Amino acid sequence: MSVDCIFCKIVSGAIPSKKIYEDDDVIVFDDIKPSAKVHFLIVPKLHVESLMSCEGAHQALLGKLLLLAPKLAAEQGLKGFKTLINTGREGGQEVFHLHLHVLGG
Ligand code: AMP
Ligand code: ZN
Repeated sequence: MSVDCIFCKIVSGAIPSKKIYEDDDVIVFDDIKPSAKVHFLIVPKLHVESLMSCEGAHQALLGKLLLLAPKLAAEQGLKGFKTLINTGREGGQEVFHLHLHVLGG
């Protein structure tokens, strides 16, 4: 948990979100400024700044994020989708808590 992190605040419930899935490791909610008809974010509950901060210990968590994408996309009615992980300021990252965008429709 990072006190100034907006996604940590969503994880803790301090900031509301349109949640579509949650388990012990992950929360998934609709992007507040959708770039497609369906646009949700798969977010680990653990505060990890970005893909550049990941190491071997995060391997299972990263796999979990990826495997959730097709499952949740299908539940949202998508037959195909795009995934995106913006990494670092120069990679277009705005929220420095790792997240996987899923877009479709
Ligand atoms: P990025 O860090 O560039 O990969 O993108 C961060 C994404 O988080 C953007 O698409 C924002 O629209 C989205 N976002 C920021 N704040 C919230 C929020 N409170 N609830 C849902 N999505 C958010
Ligand atoms: Zn965070």
